[in-house]
Amino acid sequence: MQRLQDRVAVITGAGSGIGLATARRFAEEGAKVVCVDLDEPSGAKAADEVGGLFVKADVTSEDDVVRMYQTAFDAYGSVDIAFNNAGISPPDDDSILETGLDAWRRVQEVNLTSVYLCCKHVIPYMRHQGKGSIINTASFVAVMGSATSQISYTASKGGVLAMSRELGVQFAREGIRVNALCPGPVNTPLLQELFAKDPERAQRRLVHIPVGRFAEATEIAAAVAFLASDDASFITGAEFLVDGGISGA
Ligand code: NAD
Repeated sequence: MQRLQDRVAVITGAGSGIGLATARRFAEEGAKVVCVDLDEPSGAKAADEVGGLFVKADVTSEDDVVRMYQTAFDAYGSVDIAFNNAGISPPDDDSILETGLDAWRRVQEVNLTSVYLCCKHVIPYMRHQGKGSIINTASFVAVMGSATSQISYTASKGGVLAMSRELGVQFAREGIRVNALCPGPVNTPLLQELFAKDPERAQRRLVHIPVGRFAEATEIAAAVAFLASDDASFITGAEFLVDGGISGA
């Protein structure tokens, strides 16, 4: 019996990076995977690869979020795991003195409001089942801040962390575990894009990572699979750092 055998998992941002690696890992561990992404080609390709379903959805739209869980439930009869992972990097200069209100709001919308919507609409399924595991992607910057000026991003991830703690505590007696995943810098398109604009930033970041390298998405996916599984049955409301030691340095 595999660890996630026949669990139904909905992953947002499954077309790329951490979401894609997790879709592959979940499928390897026996889950039925519903891949959600705004980007149709990459999301559909991911679903095809893992033998799952693709739902094109914008996680900032409440109608889309309702529809994606309904689709998963209609197809497979439960929603056991929600990996609320879709997110965007901050605009070019995300210092508090430069970030405009529109850019700030956009980052909160995609990174934080989306997680609120996903939790709000998946919890009723899990409540009904009396069990479920929710993993929300925050970031190491939510725990320690960022010297590279990412105010809207850091604030959005801090919100994800606080919301996960609150929900983990609130729903613990109902068998629903809610945890915040806090990756360190991961070698994905999101990070590559950021560093392409500012190569020195990559070097500055690298020196602060005790293990001396960026994470691969598969290393983050391994942690998500653990949190999703019964191996993590006593873990809820946690900030789960997978950061190569960066927050401890
Ligand atoms: P990525 O850019 O490789 O993948 C993000 C995916 O989310 C893309 O497929 C994109 O199409 C999708 N997406 C974006 N907006 C969406 C929306 N509104 N609706 C639906 N899908 C949408 O990024 P990644 O590096 O894999 O990041 C995944 C998560 O991990 C993000 O929340 C990010 O903030 C977080 N994170 C990343 C790092 C890192 O270094 N890469 C570190 C810490 C946290």
